[in-house]
Amino acid sequence: MAAGKVYLIGAGPGDPGLLTLKGQQYLAQADVVIYDYLANPVLLGHARAAAEKIYVGKVRGNHHLPQEETNALLADRAAAGLQVVRLKGGDPYIFGRGGEEAAYLKERGIPCEVVPGVTAGFAAAAYAGIPLTHRDVTTSLALLTGHERPDRKLSSLDWEKLATGLGTLIFYMGMTNLGQISEQLIRHGRAADTPVAVIQWATLPRQRTLVGSLDRIAADVVREGLEPPAIIIIGEVVKYREELRWYDNLPLFGKRFLVTRPREQAVAFVALLQQQGAETICIPTIEIVPPEDLQPLDAAILQLSTIDSLILTSANGVAAFFERLTEQQLDLRSLAGVQLVAVGPKTAQALEQRGLRPDLVPKNYHAEGLVAELLAQGVAGKRILYPRAEIARTLIIDKLKEAGAEVLAPVAYRTIRPTGKEEMIRHLLSAEELDGICFSSPSTFDNLLAMFGDELKQLQGQAEFLSIGPSTSKAIRKQKYQVALEPQHSTLDDLVTAMVEYYK
Ligand code: SAH
Repeated sequence: MAAGKVYLIGAGPGDPGLLTLKGQQYLAQADVVIYDYLANPVLLGHARAAAEKIYVGKVRGNHHLPQEETNALLADRAAAGLQVVRLKGGDPYIFGRGGEEAAYLKERGIPCEVVPGVTAGFAAAAYAGIPLTHRDVTTSLALLTGHERPDRKLSSLDWEKLATGLGTLIFYMGMTNLGQISEQLIRHGRAADTPVAVIQWATLPRQRTLVGSLDRIAADVVREGLEPPAIIIIGEVVKYREELRWYDNLPLFGKRFLVTRPREQAVAFVALLQQQGAETICIPTIEIVPPEDLQPLDAAILQLSTIDSLILTSANGVAAFFERLTEQQLDLRSLAGVQLVAVGPKTAQALEQRGLRPDLVPKNYHAEGLVAELLAQGVAGKRILYPRAEIARTLIIDKLKEAGAEVLAPVAYRTIRPTGKEEMIRHLLSAEELDGICFSSPSTFDNLLAMFGDELKQLQGQAEFLSIGPSTSKAIRKQKYQVALEPQHSTLDDLVTAMVEYYK
């Protein structure tokens, strides 16, 4: 039996991008992933689908699994020869009981490796725009817990030394005792007007930051309703935030959008939105699946040597076409001499990723633009292959045929409506948790409508409908719904730019 091992991995503070490369690599190889309340569950996406995933998180005051049982779980799985990843929020060795887990394993002779993570205190500082040390105001820094073991009093901290002997202080788990902490510091010599920042849910789009003075901050926190998890930073460095903040003033910060594209295609879009500070929730309203009958596409592919032009109108079409090409034991050489036409930059990119450069990308990225440029070239007598979506408009086929081309238009893929997503979407909409819903094709809207019927009318009041382009807007308006915005060009980049402008 292969030897089991436990990897104590720091998951970082929340932003999934703050996991280390090594952490990601071990996650990808794990048989078992045991994770916490503060480890972002999005990170589980790095693990294999088949990996066992166990939540042992704690919500304050409500310990899901006693530490002893977590320890035993780690040891049992590793003893069974499995690769166990223990994913812990922030850094495993900072206020996370990582030391206790490692010691437990060590006693039982189970190998254990520790991968550090970005601790919440450092991350909160960075995302709030607070340099923790600065030559002009402080040269030292302390990490402290404001919520000690119940069997000890907070007073076991040496308040006098903390108050006067150190520069920046970072308190973890300090929210309940914030009043006491500030009082003790002031009593032992810290200036009452020392700036303090309290950062809740640091590095996530729901981050909230409150700045005040040491004597007032506890009252401010109550008034503003800030709650754990939060980091408290005390010291002169806090005043740099005004100048250095960069995250919570991003254009879409604090806004939350529903992304309805299929998951594989949502990645790039989600990244663009997050760069602008937005929070995204992906619940695809369409799923891409192969056509019911593959024969027409396969037959057309076998005739490639007789084809003059190949028209592709989406990245999905490109993916479906090449899947069948490969399935027929063919490769790129079958496309030698075939004119490649891509409807727009994303489709062109999908071709380029496969080592093919399109011969034609129309200036206007839609079917009309594509037809106009092909007709200008002359298509009479040409054989054109157009692997299409099942529900594609017939415009391309009709116009090319009218102009004398022979058009083969086999279905290359279908979009279907995933089931079981209604409840999540209804909840988000009725709880007014969304600012907008992004539609990137007519079917993303049509399917949402099919999910809710007339009820969507009531729900639309809560979130705005954002459309990628004319045909999507048309589908929305046709059902008498309002389109809040549509970018000038139908690309995801332009949609995000338009959103930034709109929500200014
Ligand atoms: N090992 C973790 C700390 C665990 S203790 C680390 O290195 O970050 C839990 C405390 O961490 C919380 O009470 C809170 O003070 C802080 N914390 C963790 N994640 C946080 C976040 N995203 N924003 C603010 N505070 C956070």
